[in-house]
Amino acid sequence: MTVDEIKNLGIIGAGGAGFPSHVKLNSKPDTIIMNAAECEPLLHKDMQILRNHADTVMEGFRIAMQLTGARDGIIGIKEKHHEEIELLRSKVPGDCRVQPIEDVYPAGDEVTLIYMTTGRIVPPGSLPLSVGCVVQNVETLHNIGAKRPVVSKFVSVAGAVEEPATVEVSVGTSYQEILSHFKITAEDYVVRSGGLMMGILEEDLNNVVSKRTNALIVLPVDHYCVTMYRRFSTDHAVDIIAKAGCDQCSFCTELCPRYLLGHPVRPELAMRNRMFTREDMPLTNPGNLSCCECNLCTMYACPEGLDPKGATLMDKRLARSQKSVLGGDQPAIHPMFDYRKVPVAKLKQRLDVNMFRDEGPLKDLNIRPNVVRVPLRQHAGTPSRSVVRESDRVKTYDMLGSATSEISCTVHASIDGVVRKITEDEITIERA
Ligand code: SF4
Ligand code: SF4
Repeated sequence: MTVDEIKNLGIIGAGGAGFPSHVKLNSKPDTIIMNAAECEPLLHKDMQILRNHADTVMEGFRIAMQLTGARDGIIGIKEKHHEEIELLRSKVPGDCRVQPIEDVYPAGDEVTLIYMTTGRIVPPGSLPLSVGCVVQNVETLHNIGAKRPVVSKFVSVAGAVEEPATVEVSVGTSYQEILSHFKITAEDYVVRSGGLMMGILEEDLNNVVSKRTNALIVLPVDHYCVTMYRRFSTDHAVDIIAKAGCDQCSFCTELCPRYLLGHPVRPELAMRNRMFTREDMPLTNPGNLSCCECNLCTMYACPEGLDPKGATLMDKRLARSQKSVLGGDQPAIHPMFDYRKVPVAKLKQRLDVNMFRDEGPLKDLNIRPNVVRVPLRQHAGTPSRSVVRESDRVKTYDMLGSATSEISCTVHASIDGVVRKITEDEITIERA
């Protein structure tokens, strides 16, 4: 298999980042790391893929190592997953190892995972390749190993549902269609897509699954997480709450995983920048470009219930608009790194999700949408360009859109049908 073939199959980072895989695999790392550190609370889809499709994932891992010429392969997986670890150990070749890691959040962050599995620290503003590593998510490797266009997505459905499960659905299926196969236990609810910590609150359930949708978490409208996410839904809200409430205790920074890895992220400075300036005359700390947006500072660390992550993101945007770049010395690990890791069990308690069943077996619920809307902007980089016309008949796996630059990707039909509508954003297919 070649890098060009991977590009033509439309394979992108399925862990949520959506970075085209052919770009990552067109490099020469010494180590490929399989990211099996699924750490968002209530998500189970990566473990389900490993349990049910381990051979395909391992084939993808082999291809990734072969294409890059990497000498070492490491599988970073939570130590609590005893069965999956045993399964993987029975399948890894001699040049690979399974590396159990603690059940902490955000172990799945690339920079954190690289440190936990190799001891190397990616410098601020640099790619994992700068320390000889390329990281690929379990589902991405599954898609490489399957050797066919990506037309479906594994999604964890959890939270206020009677039977949480992992389902494999066609790309372009609406959230509403998926949720209609679940018994929702809350009278009024909202849905968080992607994960409790790093996802987004979906106000429109007509939105569709893309190649990077990991989860749909159903939450009662009065749930703590919903209250928090709604409170900080605008920059203005983040700004005035920072001005009114931050006591500069620095808990947000002291527990920030990137700060603990020696990166110059300082969410408390982002809050301070909001406090002492007018909204239209902001200050910034360029070090905050290194924030991985894990949300730990807001949802776990801050004792005042403020939104240091929101302030840090404002800093990031401003630093980008000022064309600031990160660089400098090789970071040194904080002496308290090992003592400030956040166990997922404690995070779940803080998020108030212990009332939900924390499981997600892979189930076939016969989700067969009559209509799919395949996004043309589901990956990082430039959008795909349609190569079909309205009224064309297409079959599953036919190409719908081509890549428009090196950092772009192809998209394919996820059902057999007729192209009904084409916009800049998506292609609608009606099942035939
Ligand atoms: S945002 Fe919260 S944790 Fe951070 S300094 Fe202010 S009060 Fe402390
Ligand atoms: S979201 Fe907060 S805790 Fe996470 S990396 Fe950014 S500043 Fe640090």
